[in-house]
This record gives sequence, C-alpha cells and structure tokens, in this order.
Amino acid sequence: MPQISLLLNRIEPSATKEATRRAAELRNQGHDIIILTQGELDFDTPDYICETAIAAIRAGHTRYTPVAGEGALREAIKEKLYRDSKLDYSIEEITVGCGAKQVLFNAFMAGINPGDEVLIPTPCWVTYPEVVRMVGGVPILVPCTGLNGYKMTADQLASHLTSRTRWVVLNSPNNPTGAVYSDQELSALADIIDCYSNLWVLCDEVYEKLVYTPNRFASLPTVAPQLKERILLVNGVSKSSAMTGWRVGYGAGPPTLIQAMNTIQGQTTSHTCSIAQHAAIAALQPEPNCTEYFRKELLHRRNAVVERIRTIPGLAVQLPQGAFYLFVDCTELIGCPTRKGRFLDNDRAIAGFLLESAGVAVVPGEAFLASPFFRLSFASPLERLMEACDRIETACGNLING
Ligand code: PLP
Repeated sequence: MPQISLLLNRIEPSATKEATRRAAELRNQGHDIIILTQGELDFDTPDYICETAIAAIRAGHTRYTPVAGEGALREAIKEKLYRDSKLDYSIEEITVGCGAKQVLFNAFMAGINPGDEVLIPTPCWVTYPEVVRMVGGVPILVPCTGLNGYKMTADQLASHLTSRTRWVVLNSPNNPTGAVYSDQELSALADIIDCYSNLWVLCDEVYEKLVYTPNRFASLPTVAPQLKERILLVNGVSKSSAMTGWRVGYGAGPPTLIQAMNTIQGQTTSHTCSIAQHAAIAALQPEPNCTEYFRKELLHRRNAVVERIRTIPGLAVQLPQGAFYLFVDCTELIGCPTRKGRFLDNDRAIAGFLLESAGVAVVPGEAFLASPFFRLSFASPLERLMEACDRIETACGNLING
C-alpha cells in the first residue's frame, strides 16, 4: 500500500469543520440539532453581487486571469485600503487568492524556512499553527487571558521573541474571542516590533467590518507606518459580504513577499475563480453597504445572547468587541458528573455533552488552543440562538443540580 506523506503527522484536520460535520451528520439522522459551530454569516450573498457574477459569465470572464488577480479587482482593493485605512498600496503590492486562507498559506510558504518561529497569540484561529507546521515552521503560542481581554501585551510579545522568530500573527477582530486591538495597543506592540528588523507581521483583518461600537477597528500599518514594509495585511470578502463560498481573499504587503506568494500560487491554484473575482469587485465598492446591515443585526444578536448566557449558572463570557463568536468560559462545569455517569474532564467533553444532551453544536476551546471554553457562533437567527440558550441552560442545570 503506498504511504501517506509524513507531513500528515504534523497537522490536524480543521476542528471547526469537523465539529460542523459531526453536527450535520446527527441532523441528517433526524436529530434536532442547533448548529452554532459555523464560521460564516447566515445571510445570503447580496443579490447585486450575485448579479455582477452572472453578468461576468455572460461577458465571457471565464478564462484564466493573472495569477495575482484581475487588475480591476486589485484596483478595487487598492481603493478600499485607501478609503478605509488611508493606506497607499500599488496593485503590484496586492495579491488575490482562494480565500484569506490561501493567502495565509502562500505567505507562510513564501516566508518561513525550516525551524523559523512564528508567534501566535492564543486563543487563535485553528489554521495558523497548522499552516506554520505544514511549511516546516515552529508555532510559538503566546497565551492571552481574559484579564487583558485575550489580547497580547507588549511585554508578552517582547518575552517570546527570539533570534529565530520570523513572523508575528495579529488577528483583530479575533476569532474566537472577538477581541479588537485599539490604536494604543497596536502602537505598544509596534514599538517592540520596530526593534526586530528581521520580523514579518501578518495582520489578519478578515473581521474588520464587524466591530461593535464603541470599539473601533485599527490597522497596524496605519498606526505604525514605519513598519509597513514588513507587514502583510490579509483580508477578504468572506466575512464582510457573506461570500464564504466564493473563495476570494487578498493580501497587501511588500513587493518581494507578494511576488514570492504569486510564484507559489502560480504553481498551485493559479488564481481564484474569474467569476468570483468580478463578484468581489462589486462587494468592495463602498455602496451599497450591505456589511453595515449585517453588523447591526449581529450587534443586536450579540447583546441578546451575551445577556442570556450570563444568566446560565456555570458559564461566563466577555462581551466580544467584534466578529460573531462568543468564547464562553466553562471552567465551572469541569469535573461535573453527567446523568450517564461520565465526568466532564475537559471542554471537548463539554461540547460533546451539549451536543448529546442539548442538541446544540459548539466548538471546544481546545481547537483554539485555549481551555476550558467553547465557541458559540451568533451568526444564526435570534430565535434559534435563544432556543439554543434555553437548551444549554436546561442541560447545565441538570449537571449542576445533579
Ligand atoms: N482568518 C480568520 C481569523 C478566520 O476566522 C477565517 C475563517 O474562518 C479566515 C481567515 C479564512 O477566511 P476565508 O474564507 O477568506 O478563507
């Protein structure tokens, strides 16, 4: 039997995709499951974006495009970066990939040599450490606690940097905690990064448009322009325009890095779908602003679900400043016996218990390298969210009351 590559010994399948798959399987077997594992909006892609895609097909935009993406799309991204963040990039400093995920992969493939260290503040999106390992790098986790809103401080950054550190990852707003770095917090980190000239910074801004007042989104190169030559911005239309399936993400950064990323992409996917690229041009226009509608709806849900979760004994949660997840602290449930005579030893067991006993699917904190927590997505209709909270309350009540 031919062998699978040894690379597979270094990486894990996506835990969020696995949790969603398991919940969908149970639902298909006829169980009434509320799935709150998803990393995507429950809204449909707006009609005007879909119409642009249909028009692109009719206009014959069905062939290969440049590897870095259609010029018109990179122009739209350039304008967006200037409009929103006052950042000046040329279109040669912009690359488009199959979602932010591929852009991240290209960046690490292009910018990591075996043994290079990558600092990743945790809790973090599941993919960063896996991609780092995939390309031969070493993820160095920087645990960030609720005491500082799950954000990395300048002291923490300084104490984890070594001569082997090649990248620092900053994800604001954060998946899974919703933490948003302020100008001042970014500026304090920038002062440290400034002293290490051999360091790239990857700023994952995919949830940029989903920030809840009074918090404000801040972008590192705007706050610290002196670092712009070493920053790769990663963004896309998946989360802001309800376009997860279209697979359009982009990176903006120094030309040497962007060219190297294009070389990798040119030998792998070539580029993302030509039709999706045209749809993304429409999505990146300032008007109509569908994202603002999404944001307001999510804000309303966030407030309602946080308030409700906080009434459930055994659970605690911070108010997320952005994105569409609650990162629920379930420390008090650890060690509780279930009616089936099992003990809830960790957050994986708690997520399993909620799935079986409450019919609510969430992702255990261990998937984001922080325990004991679970992540609950509030990108679902409010009645379903409230129903999920009722069910969680009943299940937890049975635990705590014996
Ligand atoms: N970055 C973060 C922080 C995410 O949470 C996700 C998706 O969940 C992505 C990037 C990937 O987005 P895309 O759909 O553009 O690949």
